[in-house]
Amino acid sequence: MDKAPVAGTWLGCDDAERTFDVFNPSTGERIATLPDMGRVEAARAIDSAYIAKKDWAKRTGKERAAILRKLHDLLVANADDLAVILTMEMGKPLAEARGEILYGASYVEWFGEEAKRAYGDLIPGHQRDKRIMVVKQPVGVVAAITPWNFPNAMLARKLSPALAAGCAMVAKPAAETPLSALALARLAERAGLPAGLFNIILTTDAIEVGHEFTSNDKVRKLTFTGSTNVGRTLMRQGADQIMKLGLELGGNAPFIVFDDADLDAAVDGAMVAKYRNNGQTCVCANRFYVQAGVYDAFAEKLAARVAQLKVGDGFDDAVDAGPLIDGKALAKVEAHISDAVSKGACVAVGGKADAKGGLFFQPTVLTDVTPDMLVAREETFGPVAPLFRFVTEEQVVDLANDTEFGLAAYFYSRDLSRAFRVGEALEYGMVGINTGQISTEVAPFGGIKQSGQGREGSRYGLDDYLEVKYLCLGLD
Ligand code: ADP
Repeated sequence: MDKAPVAGTWLGCDDAERTFDVFNPSTGERIATLPDMGRVEAARAIDSAYIAKKDWAKRTGKERAAILRKLHDLLVANADDLAVILTMEMGKPLAEARGEILYGASYVEWFGEEAKRAYGDLIPGHQRDKRIMVVKQPVGVVAAITPWNFPNAMLARKLSPALAAGCAMVAKPAAETPLSALALARLAERAGLPAGLFNIILTTDAIEVGHEFTSNDKVRKLTFTGSTNVGRTLMRQGADQIMKLGLELGGNAPFIVFDDADLDAAVDGAMVAKYRNNGQTCVCANRFYVQAGVYDAFAEKLAARVAQLKVGDGFDDAVDAGPLIDGKALAKVEAHISDAVSKGACVAVGGKADAKGGLFFQPTVLTDVTPDMLVAREETFGPVAPLFRFVTEEQVVDLANDTEFGLAAYFYSRDLSRAFRVGEALEYGMVGINTGQISTEVAPFGGIKQSGQGREGSRYGLDDYLEVKYLCLGLD
């Protein structure tokens, strides 16, 4: 697990001038030393992907699907071991890590099935002697850059539609969590994926490798999951060669509880939407808007549930929340809380670094939060639920939409007309109505505004890796 597939061979530390270490965020222990690659390896990987994709693209959907099916089955069969690797490098509780592996595998299964359905069109000709056909073809070599919060699923979600469509991939996982990506590549090889088709560049120099990805003209698409600022930079870099982009960027998800909501269901939804992955997902509820009539009751119920969450090492069975990923993440959570408290917010539960020390933080609920506080504008990316009070539906829709982000939104209401009205008025790519859990391989995941472009999952997700070509046939 200390080698990465580059251009058809596995490169280890002996093949590199420099190395870097990977640490367990729960214990601070070093768990791996890996080769630190750069532009040269990235370019070699792109060259080999460019060659490997020629044969791969010619295969039938069914042939590609057979390999993806094997990869899916291997992921499921090895879920326990993959979960251990994931918890070790990222810190999330083992059960959650296992859930992520199965979630990632579900995309591999879905896109394997969809590989057979990249249908085109036959359009009635515009002249008597013309026939018009539309076919869909793989975009070619895809570069992928993925974050640390879902080390398996964010990559599986990109790799599987790319392979299903007939593309090749060069991926750069986050340096904090590269081991899950290496395990995925090992299993892909075991599933029979041809050499050179899936490459992994391990690096601590993301900027350098990002430049190779966006300037190498053999790369036809860049798919990125991460922060809006880095997404913007990559979009600028890719502009020179009009690169096709898939961007899954930051969110600032509102979670709205109306007076007519089922409060217990709303609390259940909040626990999932906020505290899953310790608040470190781009679809995590970031701002809770609670209508005045149920504000106190909701705050009390939520705080009572949050107080029961157990923080600690992800390998401890009883643990609900692992550590934050690094010191910077912890400092941001602390800064958001102290800013809110200095402007009048109250801590209903949590509010401090956990007594365990290290990167552990207490799951927190803040009440009496107002729009002038940092938590209203910025993604906290940690276990903090700030509760804002609102009065009317119109007011809360305006507040919810008052952000440059547009990824996920959630609301709870038992009024059917309101469900449609608010669902349509929220400027977000995904809206959970009476649910805090929206991610699935069968639905299109993605954002609008500065949360990105493109969709992952569902039949729309395959289209992102296909080009539309029109053939006009003139008859004698
Ligand atoms: P996060 O806050 O999740 O770490 P980032 O956007 O910083 O979000 O990182 C997401 C991924 O983007 C990681 O793999 C990281 O190494 C990579 N990355 C960060 N900066 C750049 C850059 N300038 N060019 C290319 N990749 C980058």
